[in-house]
Amino acid sequence: MLKIEHIGIAVKNIEESNNLFAKLFARQPYKQEAVESEGVSTSFFQMGDSKIELLEATNADSAIAKFIEKRGEGIHHIAFEVDDIYAEMKRLEGEGFQLINKEPKPGADNKLVCFLHPKGTNGVLVELCQEIR
Ligand code: ZN
Repeated sequence: MLKIEHIGIAVKNIEESNNLFAKLFARQPYKQEAVESEGVSTSFFQMGDSKIELLEATNADSAIAKFIEKRGEGIHHIAFEVDDIYAEMKRLEGEGFQLINKEPKPGADNKLVCFLHPKGTNGVLVELCQEIR
């Protein structure tokens, strides 16, 4: 894994949270994007070499809606950039980590992504992401 690509924060209202985090960081999000397959609306703030991703559920079945229902708003996942997501998924599976999706899927911000089950990572939902080239 190369670096922390971004930290994902689950929020109830992305417009309100955009304003809140814009005040906190003294900058505006550089991108807003809906990922329909995941039932989320996202926005991104550049923080040096990393990013903060805000996620709001767009339907009640979305993982973000379920997360907020159970645990409230807050840090949802940490995303690590990888060079070759297929190789990294294979390596991690070999190490005994449980992949939530068996194939990489398109995520926000022009990435292929895969999530690891938080049961195997001390409760941290880990996202692998690789830039789509
Ligand atoms: Zn993410």
